[in-house]
Amino acid sequence: MEEKKLVCPNCECEIKEDDDFCPDCGTLFAEDVKCAAHEDKNAEGVCVICCEPFCKECGSFIDDVFFCEEDSDYKFSEGRVNLFESNDPEQMDVVKNILEEKGLHPYILSQTRGNKSFVLGADPTAMLMPGKYANDLSYLYLMIPFQEVIKAEEVLQELKLIE
Ligand SMILES: [Zn+2]
Ligand SMILES: [Zn+2]
Ligand SMILES: [Zn+2]
Repeated sequence: MEEKKLVCPNCECEIKEDDDFCPDCGTLFAEDVKCAAHEDKNAEGVCVICCEPFCKECGSFIDDVFFCEEDSDYKFSEGRVNLFESNDPEQMDVVKNILEEKGLHPYILSQTRGNKSFVLGADPTAMLMPGKYANDLSYLYLMIPFQEVIKAEEVLQELKLIE
């Protein structure tokens, strides 16, 4: 028996048959879903951060990914949000380990500051070698998968790394 692969028509990532929405872009597949803030309005998409459905007044697609108004300020790239940045590889290593111990999946990007689009590093572990990227120009960016952002923020707040 061959299992046919389902893909999201918007972002073409793989989805499961019983998914009500695409976890990567927030495209809604289920019908007659109402906005979490307006019970009389049809939802336009599902916020990839808080996973709530919203109408087009309460949320919108940004670069083909749906965010509610409250979650629309995140910097994101390839299904991950940037929550924290540092030019200290040792600090970043500590933060990454703490998040992994909580069952989260952080990913570290190295990038020259001022460059607006994120560039994925070839070898993320190499970036954590002390000294290698610790210069003024290169920054380390902590990237968190959309659905783990709320949990990761709580951890970072406890560590007093973000407000
Ligand atoms: Zn999608
Ligand atoms: Zn949201
Ligand atoms: Zn609404």
